[in-house]
Amino acid sequence: MHNDAERGASATRPIKRVVIAGGGTAGWMAAAAISKIFGATLQISLIESEEIGTVGVGEATIPTLSTFHRLLDIDEREFMAATQGAIKLGISFENWTTEQHRYIHSFGSTGKDHWSAGFQHFWRRGRELGLAGSYDDYCVELQAALQGKFAHLKNYRMNYAYHLDASLYARFLRTMSEGNGCRRIEGKIVEVLTDADSGYITALRLERGEVIEGDLFIDCTGFRALLIDKTLGVGFEDWSHWLLNDSAIAVQTTSVCDPVPYTRAIAEQWGWQWRIALQHRVGNGIVYSSRHVGDDEAKQALLGSVDGEILKNPWPVRFRPGRRLRCWSHNCIALGLAGSFIEPLESTTIHLIQRGITHLIRSFPQVISQAGVDEYNTQMADELQHVRDFVVLHYHATQRRDSPYWEYVSSMTLPDTLRRRIELFRETGTVFHVPGELFAENSWIQVMMGQGVTPKTHHPTADTMSEADLRRFLDDIRNHVDTTVRALPSHQAYLSQYCPSA
Ligand code: FAD
Repeated sequence: MHNDAERGASATRPIKRVVIAGGGTAGWMAAAAISKIFGATLQISLIESEEIGTVGVGEATIPTLSTFHRLLDIDEREFMAATQGAIKLGISFENWTTEQHRYIHSFGSTGKDHWSAGFQHFWRRGRELGLAGSYDDYCVELQAALQGKFAHLKNYRMNYAYHLDASLYARFLRTMSEGNGCRRIEGKIVEVLTDADSGYITALRLERGEVIEGDLFIDCTGFRALLIDKTLGVGFEDWSHWLLNDSAIAVQTTSVCDPVPYTRAIAEQWGWQWRIALQHRVGNGIVYSSRHVGDDEAKQALLGSVDGEILKNPWPVRFRPGRRLRCWSHNCIALGLAGSFIEPLESTTIHLIQRGITHLIRSFPQVISQAGVDEYNTQMADELQHVRDFVVLHYHATQRRDSPYWEYVSSMTLPDTLRRRIELFRETGTVFHVPGELFAENSWIQVMMGQGVTPKTHHPTADTMSEADLRRFLDDIRNHVDTTVRALPSHQAYLSQYCPSA
């Protein structure tokens, strides 16, 4: 986990100066959070290079972002107005199970659980008896997504996330961070200086000669991973045998219709396309395996299917799925793309950045201790592995066999943790949430059922209800969903009222 040099140097250095290298989403999220808490007591600097720029993608989030915003006292209206934000209630997976099939992984919970057994067991028995509709009928967020509706309700708290413009989000967080005392430095880092004995990073040298010294360094330099990889040489665990995609092309277009409150993920023969609707434009992209399709063909597939006028020329992104063996090494913590990347199918990177920041703040050291570093690395590794399994599930549990790509993913050997989970659900209809895991039971169930994994049986608790009671139980939930969704305005009407510029 660590070497002697790290251990020997760990207890000597008081943390007074924090230097954040990189100003993409990761850098500015880190700056906003750290300056909010420690702006008055620590010296915080962020270095970014306009010449290098940011990756320019990453515009779909998951509901946990609102927790981050609450910690930072961010006002939702201000945030949405500043980022051209729109609402996301889930993801529409199109052509994943079979071509022409669609399901939604929504953020809500479905039905009502009993402490001994989840709602899916009651639903399954109801289905057997001809009493239950589609599983989708029992979730408010899912139905609201399908009907393009949203509002903040008094009697029901919708679980939702956002679509946002990543560059506007960085600008928004920058204003906040600078207001809290973070110093922004424009410049290109050309050298990372280290202490010969401990291996600790001591300073970053900029192209124009300036040297920025620090005690704790946060590597947010994106895929370049200038500090954690190029300097400290922390290895990388490659997951490309489970996650084949290694390339993407992004393009922004004008909107041709009202924004839908969900991300679209449309499967291709060798990858998938995304559509992310903001207030003012649509983010589009294609993610693919360069081993299975050429860049030109992928680009044509993208450009041939987007609606609206192109606002910014398409740009390519290459990536490698996997994780840094240690996100924290010496006095350097890697956040964002410098630390790990599980491809964007479930929009989890911004969440993982947020987790990296909150773990860091909760274990913020007076001086670095190896025990603290090891704990941080263990927690981040666990979180990443859960997310990885969830994303791999979408590829493996499919009936598609129409290309070498789908042939491979449907028959690949799975991580044991995921294989056991699928087997358990198939045999018993049960999912157990692992403590600390991002995706709750409802997400696993929606995606497994959406991808065609159906349970062979249900929990015996569901048989303890009489047929009449079961019918009433299911009907009451469905009526509640219908009544709630009927009362909602359209997503666009909500945006126009909530963010008047929309
Ligand atoms: P970057 O945006 O690349 O920022 C790196 C920063 O480091 C820049 O400011 C750059 O100028 C600076 N820098 C680099 N080298 C130097 C240097 N030498 N000197 C000075 N500065 C330097 N995440 C989601 O949560 N949702 C999504 O929908 C989503 N979609 C994605 C789609 C694709 C195709 C990809 C590849 C990723 C997606 N992600 C998504 C991940 C998302 O892009 C990242 O979460 C987010 O952009 C954070 O990136 P970053 O800040 O780590 O890196």
